[in-house]
Amino acid sequence: MQYVSTRDAAPVLGFADVVLEGLATDGGLYVPHSWPTLNKNRPRVYAELASTVMQPFVEPDFNAETLLSLCQQAYATFGVPQVVPIVEIEPNHFLLELFHGPTLAFKDVALSLLGLFFDDILTSRGERITIVAATSGDTGSAAIDGVSKCKNVDMVILYPNGRVSDVQRRQMTTVQAPNVHAIAIDGTFDDCQDLVKAMFNDTVFRNTYRLAAVNSINWARVMAQIVYYVSASDHFARPIDVTVPTGNFGNVLSGWIAKQIGAPLRHLVVASNSNDILTRFFENQTMTVAGVTPSLSPSMDIQVSSNFERLLFEMNGRNGQATAQQLQIFRETGTFAVKPEQHAQWIVPNFRAGRCNDAQTLATIGDIYATTGTLIDPHTAVGVHVARQHMNPDVPMVTLATAHPAKFPDAVEQATGIRPDLPEHLTDLFDRPERTQLLPLDLLAVQKFVASVAH
Ligand SMILES: *Cc1c(COP(=O)(O)O)cnc(C)c1O
Repeated sequence: MQYVSTRDAAPVLGFADVVLEGLATDGGLYVPHSWPTLNKNRPRVYAELASTVMQPFVEPDFNAETLLSLCQQAYATFGVPQVVPIVEIEPNHFLLELFHGPTLAFKDVALSLLGLFFDDILTSRGERITIVAATSGDTGSAAIDGVSKCKNVDMVILYPNGRVSDVQRRQMTTVQAPNVHAIAIDGTFDDCQDLVKAMFNDTVFRNTYRLAAVNSINWARVMAQIVYYVSASDHFARPIDVTVPTGNFGNVLSGWIAKQIGAPLRHLVVASNSNDILTRFFENQTMTVAGVTPSLSPSMDIQVSSNFERLLFEMNGRNGQATAQQLQIFRETGTFAVKPEQHAQWIVPNFRAGRCNDAQTLATIGDIYATTGTLIDPHTAVGVHVARQHMNPDVPMVTLATAHPAKFPDAVEQATGIRPDLPEHLTDLFDRPERTQLLPLDLLAVQKFVASVAH
């Protein structure tokens, strides 16, 4: 499989290079040169299904045997044998529980595997990389868990000081692996992200320390997420609708790819919190930047949905130059629109959308607890609220449960009066020693730190 950039001005690469590269050199995102077709003979065991679904995307860099072994290792770390179980919450409405991984959010599904891909590729090439990433909480902990065992990786994670939850911070700062460094920055998440971007844009620095990315634009993350959409549709053995609480459009893009390669998915329902740039786009075909308001579902508090670029490339008939131009206009003016015929061809048959504010989030957590006894986290609640607006009696609705309720205990307690317990492997999280460092919001200071820990 070869990969091309959505902006058409970067080298064509194979899978292993795309994983290490992250962002293409023209600023675009890598996508497969063409879409494969889903294998008709699909195993039920999750790790086996994962390797069957992903095989065409990783050839020839990973053979079937190696890929299966990596999938088995990655998903053995999940707390339940089904890996991503399905539970019914009301008639015809199901949750796909994606939070049974080591750090309790769906990002584990992809990041546990990404760490193994890095290790395998770097070991065989005799190379070393430095991962730098910004996090608002969930990406950092999942990346640290997934990558801390890699022998050939140093990792620096920047998080906004005082602006991640205690559970999220401790999941990052209590890991004692010497190659991992969680750093508090005296600033916001956007400030942390700007520092990371600045380090990547400093070509000499980027090349000297061989910087690599683990954020949601990394193709391997999008690819690993395709699998659970296939798994859910295989469970019902007939077309389903899936509601996805989303911010960066990463998770729902994986659903669109699952449909594109042949999984029987009818509608993908995009669920936003009050930061609803995506829902506004699906309503009026215009993407327009607005400010970010903090919400009870912080992992979806985003200003721009970076993975949307991959769908836009497709909507433009895979014309990278047109896509680059459109995004240039977006950067300059804060807005762009798609044509009615693009909307009719790509959006109408595939997507629905809706939004959920904080009051509705709390009401949904309370209501699901009252009727089923199940606690759901605020991100999942956004999905459940929006899914209920799009139910069809003849089509099962599956809402993606993206985090464990104990990861966001304050909102859950506010809604139900009950503080959810951490799962067993994390019960001593608040007794473990923390290791962190506070750095000023200063590029040179952060670069100096990265240089001091990179091997
Ligand atoms: C990251 C995250 C999301 C949003 O994922 P996208 O890839 O931006 O769609 C939703 N819920 C939780 C719990 C997350 O951690």
